[in-house]
Amino acid sequence: MENSTLKPMDSEQLREYGHQMVDFIADYYKTIESFPVRSQVKPGYLRELLPDSAPKHPESLQDVLNDVRQKIIPGVTHWQSPDYFAYYPSNSSTAGFLGEMLSAGFNIVGFSWVTSPAATELEVIVLDWLAKMLKLPNEFLSSGQGGGVIQGTASEAILVVLLAARDKVLRKVGRNSLEKLVVYASDQTHAALQKACQIAGIYPENFRVLKADSNTNYALIPDKLQEAIMNDFSSGLIPFFLCATVGTTSSAAVDPLSELGKIAKANDMWFHVDAAYAGSACICPEYRHHIDGIEEATSFGMNAHKWFLTNFDCSVLWVKDQNALIQSLSTNPEYLKNKASQENNVVDFKDWQIPLGRRFRSLKLWMVLRLYGLENLQSYIRNHIKLAEQFKELVCSDHRFEVVAPRTFSLVCFRLIPREGDQDNGYNLNYNLLDAVNSSGKIFISHTVLSGKFVLRFAVGAPLTEESHVKAAWKVLQDQATILLTDQ
Ligand code: PLP
Repeated sequence: MENSTLKPMDSEQLREYGHQMVDFIADYYKTIESFPVRSQVKPGYLRELLPDSAPKHPESLQDVLNDVRQKIIPGVTHWQSPDYFAYYPSNSSTAGFLGEMLSAGFNIVGFSWVTSPAATELEVIVLDWLAKMLKLPNEFLSSGQGGGVIQGTASEAILVVLLAARDKVLRKVGRNSLEKLVVYASDQTHAALQKACQIAGIYPENFRVLKADSNTNYALIPDKLQEAIMNDFSSGLIPFFLCATVGTTSSAAVDPLSELGKIAKANDMWFHVDAAYAGSACICPEYRHHIDGIEEATSFGMNAHKWFLTNFDCSVLWVKDQNALIQSLSTNPEYLKNKASQENNVVDFKDWQIPLGRRFRSLKLWMVLRLYGLENLQSYIRNHIKLAEQFKELVCSDHRFEVVAPRTFSLVCFRLIPREGDQDNGYNLNYNLLDAVNSSGKIFISHTVLSGKFVLRFAVGAPLTEESHVKAAWKVLQDQATILLTDQ
């Protein structure tokens, strides 16, 4: 194809290539179990396989897809494999995929209402729907001062609320008090908060990481928080931000929102609740109690892209006071001015996030909610939790292993019990087990450290996972454990 004849968006070519690509992806899902779950390539593998520079002349789609098969797929870790149990899930689904496709199809950049009214309005509506499914307090709905917004990730959600909270308190106490502002969270809080503090200019010595241990199943202790706040006040510091987690990254611990929230409120602090993973489970009445106390929160976030069948990325954030975000993040350059924004009766999501540009991500969530419906989504979550419980029982039935934290949602934390007198308390033993199972390519799990113990994490949540996969995964773990223990 000569330059002058390039038709980059020809609808007939899109139809033809698009069908081929959908077939390619559908075949990928059909054969996904045949690939090693965790990619087994070595760093730099791809440079040896691809040319040094981009082609001068066009190549065929078939050639590119052949390269995907032969060169790219070996370097892919298959997060959608039914044998994937690492970190937390990152769900895809047909509905999420279709929404993603449609979003790519429109390819709008919806930073202000006027740049695509449907993008803003659908986002507002869909996040109200989801807030109602979670039974969030009405203050988080768009009908009042609050509302929801889709961010790329939970990290961005935490950053924007931290910035809003920082600026809110600085407006009150004066801009030169930044060095006095204190942030609180447990040591189980995701590192996204630390990064947000770094970006927001919070003084590192004012980031209070409160220890949570097995006595509270790794939940933050309200008395510890209270004590830390009192100490800081008496040192002339200004406590202003608390982050609690529902479903911590290491062990899915749940911080006690009601008590923590009351302390935050009494001290006029912003209270953010990060439910990136476990928030999805709270659409089930029997798990909703994990966010009891959410009425005390100033903001609440969950990742629809983790365990809610919405393809990455789609991290949902609700705030009670949208003005706090806007006051921190709004800019109004001449080249973006428009009648609707100036009349002040539309939402401009550019003022609720870090970047200007934003994709039409609500289409994905809308598709998921409409094509599946609440009841199917609830059964989806329940099934994973049931499978995790079955896995836990398998672990408990083998005397060589122990479960090291309660299974609250679909995550099981466990380890091989070290021999008495083991020098590193089972660190190497479990590290080697992790390495062996992941190198086998049969399953992929991850790890953490809890109370100094090297712990294996088995997170059920990939959309294709069934009971047979969980049982097979357990067999892989048992067999590798037998090999390791015999070699010891
Ligand atoms: N918060 C929690 C509790 C998480 O488990 C994670 C990731 O697993 C994050 C935040 C970070 O999520 P993201 O990648 O969307 O920033």
